[in-house]
Amino acid sequence: MPRKLTRANARTVFERLSEKSPEPQTELYFKDPFTLVVAVALSAQATDEGVNKATKTLFEVADTPTKMAALGEKKLGDYIKTIGLWRNKAKNVIAMSEMLLNDFGGEVPQTRDALEKLPGVGRKTANVVMNVAFGAPTIAVDTHIFRVSNRTGLAPGKNPLEVELGLEKIVPEDFLLHAHHWLILHGRYICKARTPECDVCSITDICLYKDKVFKDVEEKPKKAMRKMASTPKLKPAKPKRKTKKKASS
Ligand code: SF4
Repeated sequence: MPRKLTRANARTVFERLSEKSPEPQTELYFKDPFTLVVAVALSAQATDEGVNKATKTLFEVADTPTKMAALGEKKLGDYIKTIGLWRNKAKNVIAMSEMLLNDFGGEVPQTRDALEKLPGVGRKTANVVMNVAFGAPTIAVDTHIFRVSNRTGLAPGKNPLEVELGLEKIVPEDFLLHAHHWLILHGRYICKARTPECDVCSITDICLYKDKVFKDVEEKPKKAMRKMASTPKLKPAKPKRKTKKKASS
């Protein structure tokens, strides 16, 4: 059985993660629910930075379902060619825009069921849109959240859904709204996939990960030994000769 954090420690995790950024925001560029759903759909297996570069220009010409559908798959492809899997994503974004126009009156729906009907929108994308655009306390489990939840023992799980349901149970209610942003930022900048920075991590005393990496702590003894080897040793001071007191005449 994987070890799990206690409720009290889970609360401490979020108290500490929230200290640095009390009101975290998505790093994706968007203007409204429609541009958000497009940006999130484009971000699958791509970096937010790469998506933002493409969408800054794209959203100047197509920021509504009507304009996006009119742009068409080929022209949309020209804007997003720098993003991985762009052909498939272009097809989905056009089909999604058409469905929004035909079935949802041109508005992005607010429920998970309705969002998941849109082409290219899965549970993770739906959760991000519900959270960021509509303020729902959903947690979209991406690769960072999956890793952090398993390493720390916050919500161990074999797949994203297991982790999502585990997080819903353990995250204190007052932290639920921003929990997914705090965990993403923590995974992206501190609890990195290859080398977690456990020596600067604010929850290292609580985290249950067995293979923590303490670069500084490993380096310090080596540095200290090198320094000691190159430092000239102090010679013990010679004992002073005792001088005999002259006998007073
Ligand atoms: S102590 Fe290390 S493994 Fe645990 S959360 Fe922090 S960075 Fe990640």
